[in-house]
Amino acid sequence: MRSASLASALALGAFVPSSGAVPTPIVSRDSSNPFVGRKLSINHSYAASLEATFEAFIEEGDELNARKTRTVQGLGTFQWAPAISLLANLDTAISAARAEQNQGGVPQVVGLVLYNLPDRDCSAGESAGELSGRDGLRRYKNEYVDAWATRLSRASDLTFAVVVEPDAVGNMVTNQGVPLCAEAKPIYEEGIAYAISKLQLPNVNLYLDASHGGWLGWPDNLPLAAQQFKDIVDRAGNNATIRGFSTNVSNYNPFHATVRENYTEWSPSWDEDHYTSSLAPYLEELDLPTRFIVDQSRVHLPGAREEWGEWCNVAPAGLGAPQKTDLENPYVDSLTWVKPPGESDGRCGLEGAPAAGQWFNEYVQMLVENADEDVQPADSLERETKSWWPQF
Ligand code: BGC
Repeated sequence: MRSASLASALALGAFVPSSGAVPTPIVSRDSSNPFVGRKLSINHSYAASLEATFEAFIEEGDELNARKTRTVQGLGTFQWAPAISLLANLDTAISAARAEQNQGGVPQVVGLVLYNLPDRDCSAGESAGELSGRDGLRRYKNEYVDAWATRLSRASDLTFAVVVEPDAVGNMVTNQGVPLCAEAKPIYEEGIAYAISKLQLPNVNLYLDASHGGWLGWPDNLPLAAQQFKDIVDRAGNNATIRGFSTNVSNYNPFHATVRENYTEWSPSWDEDHYTSSLAPYLEELDLPTRFIVDQSRVHLPGAREEWGEWCNVAPAGLGAPQKTDLENPYVDSLTWVKPPGESDGRCGLEGAPAAGQWFNEYVQMLVENADEDVQPADSLERETKSWWPQF
């Protein structure tokens, strides 16, 4: 994963939409927000990893943060399937959500991340995947995307929110000076279009990843990003539709910045609330949906970064607001947790950080300590369990 490119950071200028018109908020055309009336499914394997965090707080005699950790174990996070061999994560997520919905009686939205494009993470490299080039694209279609379609079509009793390929469009728009990204661009375009076309299922809400305000939110990048999305969706053909876009996945921008950071000075997208509102008019102009989900699993504290381009295990940071649909911003379906907080961004940012996706206990302790007030401590130190919950 990575963040703003130098080119985008240097892009200065006023915010002028390509039509020349002043952007006005557009109220959603579609009222079926999949996050309303449904709870994001618990990622039980993630909750099990948090046992180490709970124990560490208990050993330190920090009961307050131990109880906050208990709360987090009961919250939902998206579940990633970042390799062909990890497609089983989808099966685990589906069966756990189904049990919760049928036995617990709580309607579920299953949050999943489709993330395995050939030459993935072409600029930063920390999350480079298993596939490459044209042969990788063939495998991506046949062994990865098709397997998603089979599984999700067999789970018509559940509602899905699928984040499609974090960072890919960011790299297509701003990192074409990186040879691997330039080579990967047509492959990304074909791969994402294929995924969209295969996942046209009534119970599946696709959110194409729109990186974050510090990357695509600059005035020069907004129209380019919208056009890139348009090209991809058109390429999917057959009047394919998407629900909308995801922002801030695995990044650290607040939805509402309490302090405006200096590095945002020339950007209309200085927090994710503003980013969604700056991108929406460009999407609308191209007849794309203007709906967003915003990852708030980790949010930097004011002054944590010197540059917006810092994206790796940023500190200090805290857990952000979990699922929240009741927002003043007319474009946002929900704040949510896409990156499971506690999984590393890569071997960078902090001394001793493990590889991307690996558990980073010291880091999640900091996130819990600095958690948003919406993460209230649980009443009990006991871990909540239900008879139908899977054991890890
Ligand atoms: C990693 C994945 C991991 C995901 C969620 C990505 O940066 O590359 O392996 O599943 O983060 O932690």
